[in-house]
Amino acid sequence: MKLQPATFRITCFVVVAFAMLLCVGNALCQASSPKFHVLAIAEKGGIHKPFVDAAKVWLAQEAVKDDFSIDYIENTDKIDDQFLSHYQLFLQLNFPPYAWTPTAMAAFQRYIEEGRGGWIGFHHATLLGEFDGYPIWPWFSTFMGGIRFTKYIPTFVSGKVIVEAPSHPAMKNLPSSFEIENEEWYTYDHSPRPNVHVLASVDENTYTPTTTIKMGDHPVVWTNEHYKARNIYIFMGHHPELFQNSFYTRLFHNSILWAAHQ
Ligand SMILES: [Zn+2]
Repeated sequence: MKLQPATFRITCFVVVAFAMLLCVGNALCQASSPKFHVLAIAEKGGIHKPFVDAAKVWLAQEAVKDDFSIDYIENTDKIDDQFLSHYQLFLQLNFPPYAWTPTAMAAFQRYIEEGRGGWIGFHHATLLGEFDGYPIWPWFSTFMGGIRFTKYIPTFVSGKVIVEAPSHPAMKNLPSSFEIENEEWYTYDHSPRPNVHVLASVDENTYTPTTTIKMGDHPVVWTNEHYKARNIYIFMGHHPELFQNSFYTRLFHNSILWAAHQ
């Protein structure tokens, strides 16, 4: 059967209108639904508030560029399996590994062990020991390579970070070494190296000004491949000025995409 011109025109119109509707629907869908969801536990107030505040500004820009949503919490009260199931990435923005509720600890362990999402922890995340009346969290210490916090450099020194795993996605487009200014550089009872994959370390011989607070082999960025979750610990994270260091923001950006399986 041959379509009459009028019928043909109507048919074409219906097909085009339907296609347009689909496009509009798809665009709306893309605009309202980010590619992945991030949960950030951020330390409230205290000495790291300026870092957390600067991180929030930078993360808001990243969320637009890389198409993710981000929610913040300031304690672990809400954390359980159900709550974590909404998120593909857990950011520990200078929140220490103590004073978590037992439910939050168990849910976080499952999240990491079963790879329910990725994790990036900063700075205070390795404050492993007895602090503020809380015991060490042994599971978290093992997750971080079996370490215990010993000291920090209260006077702050600059140092050169050496990239050890240039082919790792978190290190993409980074030079073989880069400068980090005025850091606190924690030391631990031993290097986590035997238990983790070290991505970068600080060369303590480049400390400016020099200090006696050193640990020798001193990893500062690493991932623990014994856990299903894609995880990265980044030591640097005291000062807000870090967000003006393009090497640091590149490392953070790369880590987000890798840990969230993007
Ligand atoms: Zn600090």
